[in-house]
Amino acid sequence: MSVQVQQLPLGPLQNFVYILGDDVIRQALVVDPGWDVHAIQDGLAQHDLTLAGVLVTHTHLDHINAVGDLVKRADVPVYVHKAETGPLPVSAGSVTRVGGGDEIPLGRHHVRILHTPGHTPGSSCFLVDDRLLSGDTLFVKACGRTDLPGGNPEELFHSLGQIATMDERIAVYPGHDYGDAPKTTIGAEKRQNPFLRFHSPQEFVRAVTGG
Ligand SMILES: [Zn+2]
Repeated sequence: MSVQVQQLPLGPLQNFVYILGDDVIRQALVVDPGWDVHAIQDGLAQHDLTLAGVLVTHTHLDHINAVGDLVKRADVPVYVHKAETGPLPVSAGSVTRVGGGDEIPLGRHHVRILHTPGHTPGSSCFLVDDRLLSGDTLFVKACGRTDLPGGNPEELFHSLGQIATMDERIAVYPGHDYGDAPKTTIGAEKRQNPFLRFHSPQEFVRAVTGG
């Protein structure tokens, strides 16, 4: 009785697509479907899972460019934070806007939305049981860039600070395979990630902007 996490490395930018599957009701939420709709559907089929919804950490193209194909075949909601401004390749009726603290049911479990702006205004992390899907907010020993439209280094500082207060045993599943391992923990990042070691937003902003 737990949520299984499948981590699919897809696309030229080392994206990770995630399938969160409830092994009792055999339904799944797919997080950040990009690049290869067939690989995602194979992942669902291999574990006998039916798609129940799509979650996106943010609307950069590499995280959403398979949403349209996935939803075309299954009319399910696409959840995105209300502060996110980029378009999604689905009809407006498929999109459900969420806020920090909202919970999306998956069988007996819930996926909790954490609003973690900085990489984009509506960037979110998703907490399910003791797993955190951290999108482009937190990577293994790194963090998301803030120099793209809507990026804000001071907001990212506070979002990383919020993550650093979480239980150190929580496993972290990032949005890209940029590190020396595909996943990490909050505790390991607090010890190893230089971007979690700044004490003031000013120092952090200077470090990430090179200013
Ligand atoms: Zn991004």
